[in-house]
Order: sequence, then structure tokens, then C-alpha cells
Amino acid sequence: MENLIGDLDVLNPQDTEACETVHVSKDENTGNKRKLYIESYGCQMNFADSEIVASILQKEGFDTTSDAASADVIFLNTCSIREKAEQTVRNRLTHINGLKKQKPELLVGVLGCMAERLKAKFLEEEKIVDLVAGPDAYRDLPALISQVDDGQKAVNTFLSREETYADISPVRLNSNGVTAFISIMRGCDNMCSFCVVPFTRGRERSRDPHSIVQEATQLFAQGYREVTLLGQNVDSYKWSPEENNKAWIEKNGIGNIVNFANLLELVAQVHPDLRVRFSTSHPKDITDDVLHTMARYENICKYIHLPVQSGNTRILDIMNRGYSREWYLEKIKSIRTILGNECGISSDMITGFCTETEEEHNDTLSLMDAVEYDFAYMFFYSERPGTLAAKKYADDIDLEVKKRRLNEIIQKQTEHSRKRNNLDVGKVHKVLVEGFSKRSDEHLQGRNSANKVIVFPKENYKKGDYVQVLVEECTGGTLIGKPLNS
Ligand code: SAM
Ligand code: SF4
Repeated sequence: MENLIGDLDVLNPQDTEACETVHVSKDENTGNKRKLYIESYGCQMNFADSEIVASILQKEGFDTTSDAASADVIFLNTCSIREKAEQTVRNRLTHINGLKKQKPELLVGVLGCMAERLKAKFLEEEKIVDLVAGPDAYRDLPALISQVDDGQKAVNTFLSREETYADISPVRLNSNGVTAFISIMRGCDNMCSFCVVPFTRGRERSRDPHSIVQEATQLFAQGYREVTLLGQNVDSYKWSPEENNKAWIEKNGIGNIVNFANLLELVAQVHPDLRVRFSTSHPKDITDDVLHTMARYENICKYIHLPVQSGNTRILDIMNRGYSREWYLEKIKSIRTILGNECGISSDMITGFCTETEEEHNDTLSLMDAVEYDFAYMFFYSERPGTLAAKKYADDIDLEVKKRRLNEIIQKQTEHSRKRNNLDVGKVHKVLVEGFSKRSDEHLQGRNSANKVIVFPKENYKKGDYVQVLVEECTGGTLIGKPLNS
């Protein structure tokens, strides 16, 4: 099935979840002989994984490059969340085949979420692929590369019960030097019926909080001013000195755990000038404790990505999301009560899930009216082989209907984004400067606490500064203002 509108689905440009985004490794020269080129697809977690891969291979004599043609090793770090993502990687492999013809010793590897399901296909059909490694096998990459150097194909797609790469300090590949991502957990135990993640990334494990705080502290010392804590469901973060696997912690009744609210507080205490964000929150797991912790610390950003997926309780039930429409709306009420109307809220939504009726689709539209999201990532349903939905329900909504419903929610979201942005006009916002505006070197851009992009004249400000900006107008998705000199 085609997923055409999926390409246009992202309304917010500075996202942490834009699924069609591609990141390419940067040029780095530490004197190493071999060159590694990594192209990463999918979510922010995949981009963070590529930074772990670069770190592991740096110790093995590789520097990264942004030029595929000059690389000795090319890795594609893949995503399989929608069918479109898989097609993109196949097209890239065809292109890379051209490079390999000119340079037969070039090693080509496929990493990440596609590894497990498609390993046989890649190694047999795509003859240019020498190596396949799943998301928990990156420590094995040096051995796998040696195997290929010895003339064999190499595969490791083993999914671990406890791997978190806690001790590996990532090489920052796409950094602006101000904002960085920190993986706090891996895998997912939720089994939403539409989703491949539990199959491609394995069971949920939480990373040692000491290593997270240490990474945040180091980043601050290097000049970074914002960290985003990453996980598929950060609210179910659970770590104990004995166990880091959530299912085992719960099965063995282990007490003395660090939960997400505790972790958030620990990271917020690293420094008051270090902003803390997190993604993704799950409506069934986010607690008032997390919201109160956010309220207590000025440096924890007032922004929550809380994907609803659908506004209809029957659809949520067959999606296996673990909450109802009413439960979700209660959570929104708690956010507004504890954090106020200015807290940014965003969502993910899927149209045309199996058996979705017109009335049920209208429930999504009416829920959007009730919440008024600041922005949303919107997709139409793409059946993924092996998922619970693929096994249990027919993918029975016509593509045209899925696209029409997607267009309706996109239109609604555009209205809401504009309305929410207009509320910011005339107010002063604390902006962390991330760099020059995309359109002009005379302007800087950064984000406010609620994750909105704000552009303003640069004057004497620079990257990494906090600036009080009076927002004067809003065009499309961007707020424009002027700095208030203190
Ligand atoms: N863990 C996050 C959560 O539960 O909200 C989401 C992770 S997923 C990488 C990002 C988004 O992709 C999901 O929230 C969902 O909206 C979308 N998605 C996942 N599977 C999909 C599918 N089979 N078809 C269309 N969209 C899908
Ligand atoms: Fe997929 Fe659901 Fe886990 Fe998110 S919470 S990664 S949608 S299974």
C-alpha cells in the first residue's frame, strides 16, 4: 500500500519525531584512517543510536564523514514504522550500489529496526549488503566488520534483555552545540496493535540514572544548554540497582526503584541553566507526580508530547492503547490544572485504522477541538507485518478514505496551531538561542519553554544565550519578536 500523504504529515518543523527525516553523519577528523558514513532514518531514538555506533567505531579507528563517496563503511540506520520508510531504504541501497561498483571494497551495512525482519532479504536479494545489525547488537559491530573484512557476510539481530549502552559516550553527529538528546530507555512493552516497535526494538529496559545524570553534567560543561530525555514511553521508566528490565522489576516485586518523576528531578538539578525536555509520554502512564515535578522546576520545559492516536474509545481499545477518550481528556485537564494553559501539548494521530467508521473519525476531530493541540504528527494507518493488528484485523479502510480523513485532521490542526500561536503574541518568552534563523544571518532562532520556534534580530546575542523576547507577530508556524534588552 502506498503512503503518499505520509510524506507531508509533519506540521512542526523542529520535531523530535518526524518520521521521514534523514540525518547524515558529519565530517570529523581525529586522525583515524577509515571513514564511516551513517545515514539515519526515523525517530530521534534512531539518531541517538547512530551516535552510539559512531562512538563504538571511533575506538576501532573510524572517523565519520558526510560524504558517502569517500567512505570505507556505509551504514543505513533504518526505521520500519511505516511501509514508506522501508521503500526509502531500498531506493538508497540501489544508489549505494553505484558507489560499490566503483569501490568494490566498500562495506555496506543495514542497522536498526529493519534488521530483524528483513535480514534474509537484505543479504540474499540486495547483494550489496555485507552486514546486518539490530539495535541491541552495536557493541558487536567491530567483530562483524572483521568478519566482512575476512570475506564473509555478518549478521547479529539478537535483542537483549538488558542492553542500554549506558557506559558509551555518544559522538554528537548532528549537534548545534546547544541541544542534545539522551536515551534513557530502550524497547517497549506496550504492544499497541498497529506498532512494530516492540518487535524491532525488544523489551523495555531503563538506563542507569547515574550515567544519565553524568551525561547531562558533561554536556552542560561542554556548553550545551538543553537535553531531551528520550524513550518510547518515558513515563514507564523504572530502574533499580538489581534490575533494569521493567517486566522483571514488576514480576519480582523489586522495590527501591527510580521512576520517571525521580529521574526528571535528578536531571533538572544538574544546573538551573540546563533545560530539560522529554519525549514520548504515554497517556496511560504519565502521572501527576511527573506534572508536579515539571511545575517545581523552571528549567523543566512546559511541553508534553502526549500521542492520542484516536479520539474514539472503541478504536483506542482495538489499538490496545490502554486508555479511553475520557481518560485522555482527564489527563489533559490535569496538565492544564497543574501546568496552566501555556504548557505546549502535541500529539500523534492515525487515521483509517482497521474498521474505523466515519463517526469514530469524527470523534478524533471533536477530541482535537476539546484539546486544541499546539501541533501534531499525523499519519494514515500503514499495516505492518507481524503486528497484532495485521494478525487480527483487516486493513479495510480504502486508501482514498484514509487520505481524506488525514486531510481533515491536518486542516483542523492547522487552525488550532494558528490559534495557539496567536495566544503567544504580545507576551514575553524566554528563548534559548539555537543558531541563525533559516532565512537570514541577521536573525537568530530558538525555542521557548513550550517548544515553539521564535525568530528575532540577532543584535549582540549568540548561540546558547537565554534571551527574553517579546513576540510581536506570528506567520505560519513561526513566532517573530524582538529581544528585550536587560
Ligand atoms: N512511543 C510513541 C507513542 O506511543 O506514542 C510513538 C512511537 S512511533 C515511533 C511514532 C508514531 O508513529 C506513533 O505515535 C503513531 O502515531 C505512528 N505509527 C506507528 N505505527 C504506525 C502505523 N502502523 N501506521 C501509521 N502510523 C504509525
Ligand atoms: Fe509503539 Fe505503542 Fe510502544 Fe509507542 S507505546 S512504541 S506506539 S507499542
